[in-house]
Amino acid sequence: MEDVQQTAASEAQTATHMVRTEQLVKCFGSNVVLDGVDFTVDRGQVVVVIGPSGSGKTTLLRCLNHLEKIDGGRIYIDGQLVGYREKNGKLIEDSEANIALMRSQVGFVFQRFNLFAHKTALQNIIEAPIQVQHRPKDEVIEQAHELLRKVGLSEKADAYPHRLSGGQQQRVAIARALAMNPKLMLFDEATSALDPELVGEVLAVMRQLAEEGMTMVVVTHEMGFARDVADHVVFMDKAQIVEQGPPQQIFNDTQNERTRKFLGRVL
Ligand code: ADP
Repeated sequence: MEDVQQTAASEAQTATHMVRTEQLVKCFGSNVVLDGVDFTVDRGQVVVVIGPSGSGKTTLLRCLNHLEKIDGGRIYIDGQLVGYREKNGKLIEDSEANIALMRSQVGFVFQRFNLFAHKTALQNIIEAPIQVQHRPKDEVIEQAHELLRKVGLSEKADAYPHRLSGGQQQRVAIARALAMNPKLMLFDEATSALDPELVGEVLAVMRQLAEEGMTMVVVTHEMGFARDVADHVVFMDKAQIVEQGPPQQIFNDTQNERTRKFLGRVL
C-alpha cells in the first residue's frame, strides 16, 4: 500500500515537471563537473541558469539531451527516463531510436548556430521535420514560413547562411528547433558568439517564446534577460546548484555569499 502511495505521489510530481534530475553526476576523467544536481523545471516555466565559467552549466544542458552520458543519478523529461532504461534494477543505455525520439522533442540552440551552409534558411528549417518526423512536405514548408515570420525573417527564406548576420543565423536556428514542435527548448549561451549589437534581436525572440508559454532552460550571461524573463533562476558554482529562486530573490535579496560575489563581478 505504501509503495502504491509513493508511486502515485511521484507520478503526481512528474506531471507538473517537464524536467527533473535526481542526484545527477557527471565526470570528465577525475573532474567532477556535476556533483549530485537536483534540477527541476515545471511545465511552461522559464528557468535561467547562471554561474561562473566552468561551473557545469553547459554540461547540465547537454546531459538533459543525452549529448553527454552521465555517471550517476537520473534524468526525466516529461516523466520519461532520458538516455537509459531500467533492467533488473540497473540502468542500461537506451536504444539509439529512443534517444533520437527524445531528442526530436527537445529543441537545442547552441552558441554556434550550426546551420547547414549549403542549404537556404527555409531548407535548414524543413530538413528534420521531413527526414526525422516524416511529416508531409507541404505542411512543413507552410510551418517554416510561419516560423520565419515569427523570428522576423520572412524575407530571408531563400538566403544561404553566409548571407545572413550572426543574429539572423541564430534566429533561423531557433526557427529550425521550433519546427520540430518541441515540448522543451534548451538554449546554451545562444547570444555569446554574437556581436553586441545583434544580441538584442535574438533575446527578443527568446522573450517572445517565453511569453507564449514555451518551457525553456536558458544558460546565459545576460543578467538583464535573467532578471526580466526568468520565472526561476538557478545559480551554479563548482559543479553544484548553490542557490535557486525567483529573480527577485537571486538578484535583489540573496543571502548567499557565493551568489553575491558572482553577481558583484558580473552586474
Ligand atoms: P560552464 O558552462 O558553466 O562554463 P561547462 O559545463 O562548460 O561549464 O564545463 C564544466 C567543466 O567541465 C569545466 O571544468 C570544463 O573544462 C569541463 N568540460 C566540459 N566539457 C568537457 C569535455 N568534453 N571534456 C573534458 N572536460 C570538459
